[in-house]
Amino acid sequence: MTATEAAEEQVQENVNGSPEKAPFSLELSQDQKDIREWVHGFAENVVRPAAHEWDEREEFPWPIVQEAAKIGLYGFEGTAQFFADETGLTLPIVNEELFWGDAGIGMAIMGTGLAVSAIFGQGTPEQIGEWIPRCYGTEDDVKIAAFCASEPDAGSDVSAVRTTAKYDEAGDEWVLNGQKAWATNGGIADVHVVIASVDRELGSRGHAAFVIPPGTSGCEQGAKVKKHGIRASHTADVHLDDCRVPGSCLLGGKEKLDERLARVREGKRSKSQAAMATFEASRPIVGAQALGIARAAYEYSLEYAKERSQFGKAIIENQAIAFTLADMKTEIDAARLLVWRASWMGRNGVPFENAEGSMSKVKAGEVATWATERAIQILGGNGYTREFPVERMHRDAKIYDIFEGTAEIQRMVISRAISGVHIR
Ligand SMILES: Cc1cc2nc3c(=O)[nH]c(=O)nc-3n(C[C@H](O)[C@H](O)[C@H](O)COP(=O)(O)OP(=O)(O)OC[C@H]3O[C@@H](n4cnc5c(N)ncnc54)[C@H](O)[C@@H]3O)c2cc1C
Repeated sequence: MTATEAAEEQVQENVNGSPEKAPFSLELSQDQKDIREWVHGFAENVVRPAAHEWDEREEFPWPIVQEAAKIGLYGFEGTAQFFADETGLTLPIVNEELFWGDAGIGMAIMGTGLAVSAIFGQGTPEQIGEWIPRCYGTEDDVKIAAFCASEPDAGSDVSAVRTTAKYDEAGDEWVLNGQKAWATNGGIADVHVVIASVDRELGSRGHAAFVIPPGTSGCEQGAKVKKHGIRASHTADVHLDDCRVPGSCLLGGKEKLDERLARVREGKRSKSQAAMATFEASRPIVGAQALGIARAAYEYSLEYAKERSQFGKAIIENQAIAFTLADMKTEIDAARLLVWRASWMGRNGVPFENAEGSMSKVKAGEVATWATERAIQILGGNGYTREFPVERMHRDAKIYDIFEGTAEIQRMVISRAISGVHIR
């Protein structure tokens, strides 16, 4: 059959109706729907009612995280179950629903995931088996974990990390020194995963990731950060002062590190850059969190617009308000499709040729910042007060333009991917 004949046959098949259903589907499975409903119930009944209180207290909401652990939403098994979904969609669905409830508390529950992804992405099977369960603790003894890459002078520029890790052969130990900044759960975590430089001259290619076991001396919390939003999530500096960890705490093991460093020193490409690999894997999930905030603000302002009357009619009857809501819904749905695509690609090992993970994160973050700001506008004066939740949602949303790679850095990654040019 020639190409033309094949094309004609395809056209005919389309006209008559394809004998087989197309494999592409956006319909969620029953399992995915059940999980979504279950998380939504927790977000609605437990998280949302507590959101204002913990935002005002600016403290880690231990009782809520413990409740999440009791129902299996926080913990090793729950996470493994979400991750097991081969479509990759369960993780973003869970995150969207939880953050719909509240982003500060959502981050308190999901923040451990950053350290867990680093261990999962870079650890040996033994390290994964040992450390991931310890990041979560148990239902009766809940623990949290922190991922520490950023430093005062190394935010977007991860290659500028100054924290060093030196190998002490005699004791088979690594000695870490430096200051980490902005660590979610930093200092209150049981397990810290720290990115440190083993060879400063190699920039980010000389980085490695280390697990700092609970109670290790020389690993202390520094200043706690007072934040604009997600205030129930704990953020702090972490100081590493002659912090000694066993040789086995180097994620991936020393042999693999030595091989990688040798390759880099010979001028060959290195396969893994510790911090960047962790960020790439988690971007669509972070985007899903932003979506949850955006959707919460959209739903709240939609209901408000139907209820609130001015000039003798509901404010939604004005196109200016109705069209804004139409745009909010459209943008949120568009962002969700990008998030789902990138999650599916990540889970199925499809190469991110056009930086689809970054696309999903930058879009979802900006949609959340924009939609929550529009929600304030729709609520008018009420929207600007702490009596109504959209004010908090707007403060919470802004972080999604900043952490896990700022919007500018995402655009840099995307523009490099699409052009092949080293855009700066
Ligand atoms: C609440 C919160 C929680 C966090 N949690 C963690 C955590 O758990 N672990 C962790 O390691 N880090 C964490 N971070 C750190 C976060 O990842 C960094 O703040 C972020 O990467 C940006 O770094 P920076 O703040 O140093 O900003 P900078 O890098 O100083 O950037 C400042 C501005 O310059 C822009 N810019 C920088 N370089 C370029 C460029 N080449 N081109 C164009 N524009 C550029 C940026 O986009 C930004 O707008 C957290 C931060 C916050 C605020």
